Amino acid sequence: MGSFTPFLSKSRFIKGMQCHKALWFQTHRPDLKIETPPDIQAIFDTGHEIGNLAQQLYPGGVEIPFDGVPLYEQIEQTRKLIESGTDTIYEAAFSHDNIFCKADILQRTANGWKLGEVKSATRAKDVYINDAAVQYHVITGCGLTISSIGLVLIDTSYVKNGQIEPHKLFKWVDVTDEVLLRQESIKIEAESQRAMLCGPEPAIDIGPHCSKPYECDYVHHCWKHIPTPSVFDFVDLGKPDPFKLYQQGIIRMEDVPPTSLKWRQQLQLDGVLYKNEIVDKNAVQDFLDELWYPLAYLDFETTYMTPIPLFEGTCPYQQIPFQFSLHWQNEPEGELFHFEFLAPADVDPRESFLKALLGVMPENACVLAWNSAFESKIMEWLGSSFPKHRETLNSIIVNMIDLMSPYRSKNIYHWQFNGSYSLKAVLPALVPELTYNSLAINNGSMASEAWLNMRNSDDNEEKERLRQGLLEYCHLDTLAMVKILERMKVMTLP
Ligand code: SF4
Repeated sequence: MGSFTPFLSKSRFIKGMQCHKALWFQTHRPDLKIETPPDIQAIFDTGHEIGNLAQQLYPGGVEIPFDGVPLYEQIEQTRKLIESGTDTIYEAAFSHDNIFCKADILQRTANGWKLGEVKSATRAKDVYINDAAVQYHVITGCGLTISSIGLVLIDTSYVKNGQIEPHKLFKWVDVTDEVLLRQESIKIEAESQRAMLCGPEPAIDIGPHCSKPYECDYVHHCWKHIPTPSVFDFVDLGKPDPFKLYQQGIIRMEDVPPTSLKWRQQLQLDGVLYKNEIVDKNAVQDFLDELWYPLAYLDFETTYMTPIPLFEGTCPYQQIPFQFSLHWQNEPEGELFHFEFLAPADVDPRESFLKALLGVMPENACVLAWNSAFESKIMEWLGSSFPKHRETLNSIIVNMIDLMSPYRSKNIYHWQFNGSYSLKAVLPALVPELTYNSLAINNGSMASEAWLNMRNSDDNEEKERLRQGLLEYCHLDTLAMVKILERMKVMTLP
């Protein structure tokens, strides 16, 4: 590597702590980098929003710009602010021991500086403490005295009431003692990372570190020798430990000693070996006998768990329902009706969602949903937000039956499920003519993101495109249930 001088930043250092090879790839193999998936990008974007909001906890500070400003200039600007007596600095920049870092919030106190690291999270995970520990190493190395270090985290007990109140949304978790304890190991790790970066690609095999604490960006490269299905595809992962099997050279699912498997895994393996389909006709018939008419098929779409509450009376990470699809039949083999609701993206959707749902749901209907606990939970929560509708909502909840249950209990199992009982796994095996593959929006997190994007977009064409995508997706979720139930009826025929 010649005269190469390894440069570390806080985020590179944290990546290196997870896996030296990942840091080596980031430094020497830019060709391996893949584009950040939209859902991960959305998390980053929320992180920026959280960071800006947290600055309001310590108002009147000066922010060191990031985009387009060279690092040395950011460091110089920070130095000047400190020397000129500025009390609060956001995104202060430092470099020491060849490590660059930015501090989210730095506030001067009588005994030194108070350092706040903002995280879009609710608890002080180990990796966040490492993050703070690296900053401590760098900033104290630059000559500053740090009096206390804390993580600025989301307080889930906060309820939005008017403008977001940062002093209620955030909580300060002091990690000073843990950070001090880690200083020696941070120095050793920094030396080790620099030495590693000056050498050849580290010989590190795949392991639990590939997804902990973060999903690694290089899985597509390091895991390409793992076939499908493999020991990593077993349901009930952990027993037997797939990494132990892997280290023994057992990689294909077919090569695992059957005696070590749980019954669900054995079923999965039999599926791979014999491409079989299992139907417990009596159990399926018992399930069908529980149903009555009108028979409804219900599916909700909700926002993902945003740390900043979107609407009045909601908490951080609360999922807000904005869309539902309902198919129903009034009698066996009767006409299939459909109703769909999608809230406009610029208003609080809860009340209109609720009105539409209660307005269309057939009275005393048996209501099927896939993983019905989710729909029930959302309706319970709507009932507590709109008490006058609680009773009606409860009457729907008690009539809910989970169409997923015969699949979860393996009364019905098809080898193509590959151990899963999600709707996305069951549908293509039982009803191949219906598919999510051709849809622009084809999973719940894409739907959530699409609706939130509609809120933020000024482009009417884009909004309409997202709206159509959402309608198609949610419609398919309930139509899929209709067709799967039809298949289940056929399964019970003599
Ligand atoms: S995929 Fe695993 S082994 Fe490969 S770089 Fe990432 S963490 Fe390291």
